[in-house]
Amino acid sequence: MLDPTIIAIPLYFSLIGLELLYVHFTKNKLYRFKDAITNINAGATQQIVAVLMSLVGISLYAVVYEWFSLKLIDTSQWYWHTFLLLFVLWDLCYYWAHRLSHEINLFWSAHVVHHQSEYYNLSVALRQSWFQGVWTAPVYLPLAIIGFDPQQVVFVAGINLIYQFWIHTETINKMGWLEWIMNTPSHHRVHHGRNPKYIDKNHAGVFIIWDRLFGTFQKEEERPVYGITTPIKSWNPIYANFAHFKVIGQQFREASSLKAKLQVLFKKPGWSAKSRAYLAVPEVDRSSYVPYDNPIPRGLSVYVTVQYVLLLGTIALFLFQQASLPGNVKWFFAAIVMLSVWTMSGLLEMKRPLYWLEYVRLPLTFGIYIYFLDGTFSQLMYGLPFMFLTVGSWYWLFRFFRAYQGLSGNKLVKPVKH
Ligand SMILES: [Zn+2]
Ligand SMILES: [Zn+2]
Repeated sequence: MLDPTIIAIPLYFSLIGLELLYVHFTKNKLYRFKDAITNINAGATQQIVAVLMSLVGISLYAVVYEWFSLKLIDTSQWYWHTFLLLFVLWDLCYYWAHRLSHEINLFWSAHVVHHQSEYYNLSVALRQSWFQGVWTAPVYLPLAIIGFDPQQVVFVAGINLIYQFWIHTETINKMGWLEWIMNTPSHHRVHHGRNPKYIDKNHAGVFIIWDRLFGTFQKEEERPVYGITTPIKSWNPIYANFAHFKVIGQQFREASSLKAKLQVLFKKPGWSAKSRAYLAVPEVDRSSYVPYDNPIPRGLSVYVTVQYVLLLGTIALFLFQQASLPGNVKWFFAAIVMLSVWTMSGLLEMKRPLYWLEYVRLPLTFGIYIYFLDGTFSQLMYGLPFMFLTVGSWYWLFRFFRAYQGLSGNKLVKPVKH
């Protein structure tokens, strides 16, 4: 069975399209091209990692359900009341799993990716961590003990996540009485804010009542400044997933004893072992805050956009076909996608070593198109446009590389003329 979060992919992109139309007509700067690409790439690679993980791992939930369930629920068929009960209980567990992901430094490493964007739009909803759920899976186990069927749980978890998609927008203001019960764009904007008063607030999934009940609710006063207190300043979704482990490594070096190291792992993020106190969260002002950006030539933006559309097609093909792909093709496919998001971030950051890798990536990607066209002559005719595109891309890259031969560190710049 396909995960409902994958079936909803066309819905995600339709709504992102609508939001982009809104941006176009209102001239609101809600999107940044490089940021949105990075968000979507983070989501795509997370889905791919999830597919690969299910190849090797078995779910903890299924094991507990099999061996320790009290079977208090009749799972012989779907009943509305059990569905609603599961929906509410899942959301309660989600609240705690999410809250712990914010309040324990080690757990934060598996959630921080979702908060790294300094913008707030629908593409941020797709920005999910590869390791999401690794630390917090036990929070959901009471549902297995009660006896909720794993398949129903996967379904309800999917609906819960899909609900959270539409609230990642600045285009909807406040929603009247709904603000009392439901998690809304306004409440979730607060959750993504890095202003001191907004940090670690509104952990709700679908129902905001959990925050009101457990004391983590914060109303949206002024519009937040988005992101984390130390921006990662990178368009690389692979690095984004490991960036916080680097932070933990630095914190570890400052912690001299075993006790101090454990404190680093289990206290809130921002704990300093050196000063034995939490670092102060800096105040930020939306009118003067400048999100990270690096200007790139227009031609390069066009090149990346073309490659990106192709990459999205490749990823969609993978996610919808993965069940029928042989294991080794799956791994090859996943490797190409990973390589693609890596080189793409390198292009956006104008990093020289990754331009060389882009030369290698282009023919490998072409290999994937040929795999899906089954090799008959008429099918290969369809492959011709892809061949032209690959050769054209190669040529364009060659020209670009020649024009930007100068180097500043490992970044490409135009050479200085004498
Ligand atoms: Zn969060
Ligand atoms: Zn969010």
